[in-house]
Amino acid sequence: MDELVIIGGGISSLIPAIELSSKYHITIFDKKRKNDILARRILVAGNGRCNFFNEKLLNSDNYDVFYLHKLKDFFFNREDFPNAFFHYLTDKLSFSYYKEGDLYYPFFNRSESIYNFLISKIDSHISVNFNDVIKIDRIKKEVTYIANEKKSVKPYDKIIFAPGGFSYDREVDYSLLDSLRIPYRPFSPSLVPIKVREKTFSLKNQRLRGNCSLLVKGKIIYSEEGEVLFKEDGLSGIVIMNLSLYINELIKDGYNKDEISIQIDFSRYQGFKLISDLSAYPKFLIEYLKKNKIKNSKLLFHFQDFYPFKDSQVSYGGINIELLNHNFSSKEDKNLYAIGEVLDVNLPCGGYNIGSTLIESYIVMRDLWKK
Ligand SMILES: Cc1cc2nc3c(=O)[nH]c(=O)nc-3n(C[C@H](O)[C@H](O)[C@H](O)COP(=O)(O)OP(=O)(O)OC[C@H]3O[C@@H](n4cnc5c(N)ncnc54)[C@H](O)[C@@H]3O)c2cc1C
Repeated sequence: MDELVIIGGGISSLIPAIELSSKYHITIFDKKRKNDILARRILVAGNGRCNFFNEKLLNSDNYDVFYLHKLKDFFFNREDFPNAFFHYLTDKLSFSYYKEGDLYYPFFNRSESIYNFLISKIDSHISVNFNDVIKIDRIKKEVTYIANEKKSVKPYDKIIFAPGGFSYDREVDYSLLDSLRIPYRPFSPSLVPIKVREKTFSLKNQRLRGNCSLLVKGKIIYSEEGEVLFKEDGLSGIVIMNLSLYINELIKDGYNKDEISIQIDFSRYQGFKLISDLSAYPKFLIEYLKKNKIKNSKLLFHFQDFYPFKDSQVSYGGINIELLNHNFSSKEDKNLYAIGEVLDVNLPCGGYNIGSTLIESYIVMRDLWKK
């Protein structure tokens, strides 16, 4: 049997590990940590609830928005892969879920139920190697890893490259990506709180719902409703995390940080309108409005920076997806597949990230199954 090496025992590794053990000798490499477990991100996802999918991923008509655009030809080419994956998960593997709007959660509303479910399906014969890979040599077809403080080498026939990004609990280290000799965009934190120039200390830990807009040179370019959580020097909450994705896009397109601002209009929320006078306002808001001489319902904040990687859910940047065939293999090396967060595909909150990673790993699994 051919040797299949998977770099990164994250979410990307699960479906190939579940389905391909009768076809390949599989070795999964994952970084050495205090407690060695696969796919640890699932356990922290969605605040312990794991929002693993989004309904919008199932319909190609939704892929014309900028963040899904790059995936359209990959997901809907030979067949309708998002729906094929979803049938695989629910009909073949019999996974139970429930939905809140477009957002899919495990039936028991806990990360551990999808985690235990997927891990229990992995064949025990698969070799899981909790050691850091430091180099990939595509010419010799071997990976170098550190075991017991010594370098060791593992040859491969096929390799799935899925080391994720630098967010949350990772270090910034490009050496493995560099060894691959494939162009990539350097990472920046995304789905991350935002530091602003205004003083927000007096608002710290307060929450305010409203219509949040992203402005460039004072003009609104995107709006989303949601709840903002104030931090001592910035803004957080899912709506702000989503704005951070758009800000990354603006910076990529050459806009200056000084041109970017965020407006929170707290007078509208989900079709409801504020009609009360100041007496109905929370005290913290009255004080902030007075102190800053704000006469309307709009709070304006100027973008300063992102919070660091450790506060981010995903990393913006990565391998250019145009360098890949529609089966996620490299155009210049058909034995190399790249999937997951390491790709320069940058998605908002709402189950898009785990959902697309699972679909990508399903496509690769199907491709390797046929070989
Ligand atoms: C707090 C938090 C909450 C989130 N919640 C959600 C959510 O609810 N819904 C959603 O859709 N997305 C969520 N995400 C994003 C989601 O977790 C990622 O998109 C997803 O995990 C990406 O999967 P991946 O397989 O590409 O990478 P990962 O799951 O990050 O796995 C990559 C693996 O590769 C390993 N690795 C890296 N370098 C090496 C090396 N040199 N040698 C060996 N191993 C290596 C890493 O240690 C890691 O285990 C959340 C992320 C965070 C941090």
